[in-house]
Amino acid sequence: MDDNALAFALLLYFGANMEFSGVPMQQTVHAEQSAVIHARLRGETVMAAITINYRPCGHCRQFMNELNSCAGLQIRLPGAEPTTLADHLLTLTDKLTQAALAVANQSYALYSNAHSCLALAAEDGRVYALVAMLRKRRL
Ligand SMILES: [Zn+2]
Repeated sequence: MDDNALAFALLLYFGANMEFSGVPMQQTVHAEQSAVIHARLRGETVMAAITINYRPCGHCRQFMNELNSCAGLQIRLPGAEPTTLADHLLTLTDKLTQAALAVANQSYALYSNAHSCLALAAEDGRVYALVAMLRKRRL
């Protein structure tokens, strides 16, 4: 193999949905997570792109967003131009999103630095925002 061939060599890691009998559905491992874990177990620290057959679900977007290499992660879907993970994350500026962001910034995400929370809007306009993890502690 010459130097030019090496420059274009790719390592591909495959993943698949994994469902387990007798356990709750939330224990399912999605294909995206399976492929990422496969790559990590093989020593990869930065993923360049992921090709999937459907837009990643919210759980997988969150999972990939918590990777330290997510900034440039390219999402490839059939029949579509490549996008980035950031294109699939919420960037809304409405009251609900602003409430979620305010609370998410108080969440505890020491290792991933991926602050997160859940915000719900009631029919009467009240907004409930919950931190998904423990709050930061002052030392
Ligand atoms: Zn998923």
